[in-house]
Amino acid sequence: MAENVPITVARGDGIGPEIMEATLHILRAAGARLDIEEIEIGEKVYLAGNAAGIEPGAFDSLRRTKVFLKAPITTPQGGGYKSLNVTVRKTFGLYANVRPCVAYAPFVATKHAGMDVVIVRENEEDVYGGIEYRQTDQVTQCLKLISRPGTEKIVRYAFEYARRNDRKKVTCFTKDNIMKITDGLFHKVFEEIAREYTDIENEHWIVDIGAAKLSDTPGAFDVVVLPNLYGDVLSDVAAQIAGSVGLAGSANIGESIAMFEAIHGSAPRRAGQNLANPSGLFLGAVMMLVHVGQTDVAERAHNAWLRTMEDGVHTYDIFKEGVSKEKVGTREFAEAVAARVGQKPETLKAVSYKSGGAQEKNTSTRAAHETKAERKETVGVDVYLDWAAGSANQLGAAMEKLNGDGLKLSSISNRGVKVYPGGHTETFCSDHWRCRFVADAGEGSAVTHAQIARLLARAAESGFDFIKTENLCNFDGAPGYSHARE
Ligand code: NAD
Repeated sequence: MAENVPITVARGDGIGPEIMEATLHILRAAGARLDIEEIEIGEKVYLAGNAAGIEPGAFDSLRRTKVFLKAPITTPQGGGYKSLNVTVRKTFGLYANVRPCVAYAPFVATKHAGMDVVIVRENEEDVYGGIEYRQTDQVTQCLKLISRPGTEKIVRYAFEYARRNDRKKVTCFTKDNIMKITDGLFHKVFEEIAREYTDIENEHWIVDIGAAKLSDTPGAFDVVVLPNLYGDVLSDVAAQIAGSVGLAGSANIGESIAMFEAIHGSAPRRAGQNLANPSGLFLGAVMMLVHVGQTDVAERAHNAWLRTMEDGVHTYDIFKEGVSKEKVGTREFAEAVAARVGQKPETLKAVSYKSGGAQEKNTSTRAAHETKAERKETVGVDVYLDWAAGSANQLGAAMEKLNGDGLKLSSISNRGVKVYPGGHTETFCSDHWRCRFVADAGEGSAVTHAQIARLLARAAESGFDFIKTENLCNFDGAPGYSHARE
């Protein structure tokens, strides 16, 4: 008999305790071999003065068990409360968010019978560092960070997931026609890693048309891997068009710790009435069972749940006269699933999970390629100014006066559009200007940090409010910076 696996459970707020009890009831009936440690998270913890909604002691439990089954929580209204999910994700480096979005036609209403898409969202990078600045009276900024190691991890995870789950294709969405350096890196790494998985088809779509296609023809997709922000938006869209957000579970996977949950919130208005559908949390728990290697239990529990869907035993949120057979509460639904353990669906496709132990232990950290560091050379600097004292030509003339010491002004742009020299009078200019300085010898020639520091000193002496600088660097001779639109 295999040993029990320790897991950490949080019952959460609102409908959380009811759907967790229902989920655990089904897991027990299916023979899950679990030792449960419970922790308190959410509203009570927030209101007791902990801004993160989770006690430091609870982290010890997560470090011990490395597996977290989490019910939804209520974030109290008002400022100052940090998202618990973001805290857990960042603390434990949960880099992959995995969300299967499946339609259960004809038993649950959907516009897309046959939809079976898994969204794999990068969970740590992109604009989610929350690095934002108000730089001028008019202009704010948010940093979008995409790293090679972060992208390699998520893309490799998507291909490994596809292979483990007999998926045929991995699709990548980016906007690299506009963000050529950041999204461009994501796309490039995707293509590099895809070449290692010759058994799996791969393709790339620009995210706008890809999103339209996914919403219209989800059957064209299998596994979709995306940077964080696009993944955030499209994983909700995908769950919604599959049928109901109440039916989707999700996994947040890290190198050593993983968290499993429903995608919906704590639905406070439904709390305590034995009404809520526990299916989202339950399907998250099925992913957890696969993660800890209890694929036999996962398969039994999941097939019993599919059979229950098929038998028309539905909670209020998916109940439909003429399609559903019996409207049940949370508890009765769990009992109906538990009673079907050992049965398989007859119309819906039964699931089968490959056995083989802790199969989520993937190879994601393995470097994709022996990438040697490229030769980096500083070739200029962009000096950003908060300036509202006149026209682009007037600023150009003032900036030219800072030329010298081997540096010269090459151009000025405003919100990414070149306005000097030779701008268009129609271009609207904000109070946020980018002044690009390069070597006297021309763009691409080396400049030193000392030259840049002296340039800033000259700017300060002339009374300019510089708000930030970005060094321009070449990597193996190729520019690592974008050019303004002419
Ligand atoms: P929600 O997901 O809780 O509810 C949205 C709608 O879906 C409501 O009409 C609700 O009744 C219904 N619904 C949700 N889950 C259901 C279920 N299992 N069965 C039946 N109906 C269900 O979203 P919300 O109302 O925007 O947020 C409520 C609270 O949940 C907020 O405090 C929010 O911060 C929190 N929240 C938590 C999480 C999380 O813990 N992961 C995620 C999202 C929202």
